Amino acid sequence: MLQHIFQINEIFESIEGETTFSGFPSLFIRFTGCNLRCNYCDTKYAYSEGKFYSTEQIIELIKGSNKKYIIITGGEPLIQKGIEHLIMEIGKTDKIIIIETNGSMPIDNILGNSTIVMMDIKTPSSNMAKFNNLENIRKLRSFDEVKFTILNYDDFIWSVDIVRNIIDNRCKVNFSPVNNILKPSLLAKWILDSDENIRLNLQLHKIIWKNKERGI
Ligand code: SF4
Repeated sequence: MLQHIFQINEIFESIEGETTFSGFPSLFIRFTGCNLRCNYCDTKYAYSEGKFYSTEQIIELIKGSNKKYIIITGGEPLIQKGIEHLIMEIGKTDKIIIIETNGSMPIDNILGNSTIVMMDIKTPSSNMAKFNNLENIRKLRSFDEVKFTILNYDDFIWSVDIVRNIIDNRCKVNFSPVNNILKPSLLAKWILDSDENIRLNLQLHKIIWKNKERGI
């Protein structure tokens, strides 16, 4: 096993709150550090805090969990040196790997057969849209998913344009309202009024645990 050292902000078991996997019990590994600074970021605590784990320690933790889904998240996990080797090692277990990435880093090295990619496409209101690596979209498969976080109608129109002209039914599409700012009912109306097959993605963990920020 090729060994690397990773900085990890938190490891916890919870209910997956987003995408079509929402509701399933999962083991979350939240890596430290992010190369972006989104306007609406809700995981700022993951920018720098964390403890160090070796590949072997992480694999042992994963093998010791009875959860089927392993959520690799951050921060931005793909900035971690050696992450592709860790994902390859997790792929040797009987777990299903879901990688949540902010979409700015190339995803080529992580597209193993058993890996599901949940990729953000950063909307204009995040102030990070210039970092979207749109080449990644062409590499997504039908079981991968993209997520747009929508703050306002301008974000919605911008995102629908990408769904229509670039994603073009390649993978599943989720639109999430920025928590406590855009009303879910309004986003639902915009989605219904559009012709696109967009899934309204509410953050289930924030509905269940309203006052908890970490470990969910
Ligand atoms: S990519 Fe995610 S963790 Fe990084 S700043 Fe944006 S919302 Fe926060």
